[in-house]
Amino acid sequence: MSTVIYWFRNDLRLADNPALRHACQTASRLVPVYCHAPEQITQWGFPRVGRHRRQFLAGGLADLATQLGARGSTLVELHGDPVGSLAELAQQTGARQIICEAIAAPEETAEINALRAAGIDVDCHWQSTLLDPDSLPFSSDGLPDVFTTFRQAVEKAGIAPRPPLPEPVLIPPLPAGLCPAPVTPIAPTTPDPRSAFPFAGGATAAEGHLAQYLHRKLPHTYKATRNRLAGIDDSSKFSPWLASGALSARQIMARLKAFEAEHGANEGSYWLWFELLWRDYFRLLHCKYGQHLYRASGLNGHHTPAHAPDAFARWRKGETGEALVDAGMRELAATGNLSNRMRQIVASYLIHDCACDWRAGAAWFETQLIDYDVCSNHANWLYIAGHGTAPRGGRRFNPDKQTREYDADGRYRALWSRP
Ligand SMILES: Cc1cc2nc3c(=O)[nH]c(=O)nc-3n(C[C@H](O)[C@H](O)[C@H](O)COP(=O)(O)OP(=O)(O)OC[C@H]3O[C@@H](n4cnc5c(N)ncnc54)[C@H](O)[C@@H]3O)c2cc1C
Repeated sequence: MSTVIYWFRNDLRLADNPALRHACQTASRLVPVYCHAPEQITQWGFPRVGRHRRQFLAGGLADLATQLGARGSTLVELHGDPVGSLAELAQQTGARQIICEAIAAPEETAEINALRAAGIDVDCHWQSTLLDPDSLPFSSDGLPDVFTTFRQAVEKAGIAPRPPLPEPVLIPPLPAGLCPAPVTPIAPTTPDPRSAFPFAGGATAAEGHLAQYLHRKLPHTYKATRNRLAGIDDSSKFSPWLASGALSARQIMARLKAFEAEHGANEGSYWLWFELLWRDYFRLLHCKYGQHLYRASGLNGHHTPAHAPDAFARWRKGETGEALVDAGMRELAATGNLSNRMRQIVASYLIHDCACDWRAGAAWFETQLIDYDVCSNHANWLYIAGHGTAPRGGRRFNPDKQTREYDADGRYRALWSRP
């Protein structure tokens, strides 16, 4: 009898989950686990995980637990340091191996290294990108430093994602005698009526959202609307489910291709692929540069201004005096969501106008964002700060110009004129 622990990380789904599928094929007893990180205060003085993401994550875990329950299994929740708790669980259950997805970010890699140093066999599977790294025309070290070069190479070589996998035929039962407590229930909260992301976590909600997005043919208008500031339908809103892994990028692409076959492709549907390639690119950049992406000076060693804590506090509270920026910061705090354009505007303002350390802004986004994704968040901040691989240096978004272009009628500022 071989007992295996399956450690759900940012992959809270049963379908298109190669690591889980492998675990189900090799184990006779399987312990599906999720580890809640211990509560932490960041070096900038606020909790690492805020209420919006906690709520969304709880929804995703409840949905996963329901699906596992329907297949005769259960989700085991652990709290505290994942290394210690997983090691203890392995000992308690006699598990010979932990199987999980690979995450190419420093802390997540360190967790795996610590488990291995503790003598535990950990089998990590790369599965979070749309494209399989082995299908790319370059090694991870040879990844182009310019996104356009990367995208053009992928498109020229005609590289396509592999089709998504079905869910495992059978989830092996828990080891005899293991009776985990039911998944922690959460008190439902009512989303702010102004929120552009009023959705729940989990694969069931993700599937419902994807189906209606395609049914309403929204990919066709995506390119024209994606830079708007406030509407639910202006962009896909896939990111929170992608970040928690309730939905995979391959599942989205497969459905998008079927949509294009039925309703036609256009610039809008193409642009969703384009943006998902950015997501891949930032993950692959982590494989190439790892920890270097987390230095204050990033990859280029340019001077980083000293941090300005008072300006940072005003930015967080939406009290900078710059109306568009303040509206964005209030939306973020009230909902855990912010459009891509507003993320760029508020990040640029913190870095280039308030002369603050980009890593403080990235940490605040980590706390607040429902869709927090370690690779996308850090790489986007680095890009705006000008410390990443982009050849043109930092990107400053002039607030006056952005206000004229994206909120000329003042509706967005009026919507978020109060917390
Ligand atoms: C400072 C900053 C921080 C960010 N932090 C995060 C983060 O923590 N998590 C996160 O998922 N995205 C992050 N992004 C990227 C982007 O803002 C969000 O992915 C997007 O707003 C999510 O909304 P959507 O799903 O409607 O995106 P859409 O516009 O519909 O795009 C479709 C998908 O493409 C991907 N995508 C789009 N733009 C980007 C991008 N710039 N970088 C990487 N992937 C992209 C996302 O997976 C997204 O769901 C950040 C951007 C900035 C400027």
